[in-house]
Amino acid sequence: MQVLVGERLAVETPHPRAAAERIAERLDGRRLESVEAVGKNLLLSFEGGLVLRSHLRMSGRWQVRARGSRPIVGKPWLVLQAGEHEAVLWNGPVLELTARAVRRLGPDILAEPPELARMVENLRREPGGREVGDALLDQRLVAGIGNLWKAEALWRARVSPWLLLGEASGEALERVLREAASLMQASVAGARGERAVYRRAGRPCSRCGDRIRSRGQGDDNRTAYWCPRCQGGEEPSRA
Ligand SMILES: [Zn+2]
Repeated sequence: MQVLVGERLAVETPHPRAAAERIAERLDGRRLESVEAVGKNLLLSFEGGLVLRSHLRMSGRWQVRARGSRPIVGKPWLVLQAGEHEAVLWNGPVLELTARAVRRLGPDILAEPPELARMVENLRREPGGREVGDALLDQRLVAGIGNLWKAEALWRARVSPWLLLGEASGEALERVLREAASLMQASVAGARGERAVYRRAGRPCSRCGDRIRSRGQGDDNRTAYWCPRCQGGEEPSRA
């Protein structure tokens, strides 16, 4: 993406959901001042103090290539063009345009060392009725944990995604964050660890043999995976 820094960009949002955010109207023709990765967030800062945050989740992908080298087939979320280059963002990511988005992100889980105490403080300031598994994906509290790492870190720390923040000890929260940081750092370094629970619903837990379960969690209904026996915690029954 650095090849686009300093350039005035032509911005298009072919995907209808991205178009609805009116990102193209607000960014087209502005100079890109910097591109920065914070965890899995990519922050694009434009002149005038606008910051575009893109989070790739599991399926998103940025592609940088020679401008017009291949026709664009389908509906990418974003096309940024300047000079000889174009950057194309594919698939259901998070796209958010704000002033100074950087300040709104929590500490980066991939920082070395990660600021675990600040992350725990952020989590503990949330309403006590919020579930731990939901809060871990809130980029304002901790930046960079995706759905896969959330599930795996909770399993390793033996903490249920359904545990309420108000009932979680600081020690348990720190244990989960520590597991997430170490798993994600190993993954960045190229390790290909076995997945314990993510997308393993219905299969036996490798630790206790109970059946792994899955269910949507939080406002975005992202799927949580957990072992009800060794992590504890049935999902709450909701009327
Ligand atoms: Zn288990």
